[in-house]
Amino acid sequence: MATLFISDLHLEPGRPEIGEQFLAFLAGPARDADALYILGDLFEAWVGDDDPNPYYAGMKTALRELVDSGIPVFFMHGNRDFMIGSDFAAETGITLLEDPHLIELHGERVLLSHGDAMCTDDVEYQQVRAMTRNPEWQAMMLQKSIEERIAFALQAREQSAAHSAMKSDDIMDVNQDAVEATIREYGCDILLHGHTHRPAVHPFHVDEIPVHRIVLGDWYEQGSMVEWDADGPRLEELPR
Ligand code: MN
Repeated sequence: MATLFISDLHLEPGRPEIGEQFLAFLAGPARDADALYILGDLFEAWVGDDDPNPYYAGMKTALRELVDSGIPVFFMHGNRDFMIGSDFAAETGITLLEDPHLIELHGERVLLSHGDAMCTDDVEYQQVRAMTRNPEWQAMMLQKSIEERIAFALQAREQSAAHSAMKSDDIMDVNQDAVEATIREYGCDILLHGHTHRPAVHPFHVDEIPVHRIVLGDWYEQGSMVEWDADGPRLEELPR
């Protein structure tokens, strides 16, 4: 039995092959897991739990079926789906986690995060993040109609793409000082995150203590997962 971790699927109706792989994953390997952790950006966009698009209803049903089969599912917000709320959690049966969230797994202290909070070199992005994670801003957003919110999300996505295209890769990666500060603060052995779409295992030392940073990949071309059992964590590709 293993605990499974995924992130950055960026599910959207326009990319049906990702959704199909995710549904097969939920009905297949996830059924044998001890637990499933989704570390953000499950969806490309989320304008509110009241979005009536049937595509999302299908994903919610599949999550509900996994939870009802006895597998606990945990979800942490990403920078795309940070508007997922308590109605979504109630409908699917998943447990919402704060970012970061510390767990203990097979004797290791493992800190889970989406990862965007550690991208501190992107100052402009951190300002947007602070605004959009503010509960008052979110409440204001949710008062708008679904159509207005979808239009806003589309515009935000275009701005974000234009913004990213102008930045160097380094600026959009995690900042090593922010990573080390986070590891120190939580005293973790392993930091596990997504967001950057750069799947890798990075061993290094913090204050002479050996630690690892494990980065999940996105699901654009194939799936990406960390499978963690008594033998430790393994970063794996899931062929389509
Ligand atoms: Mn992200």
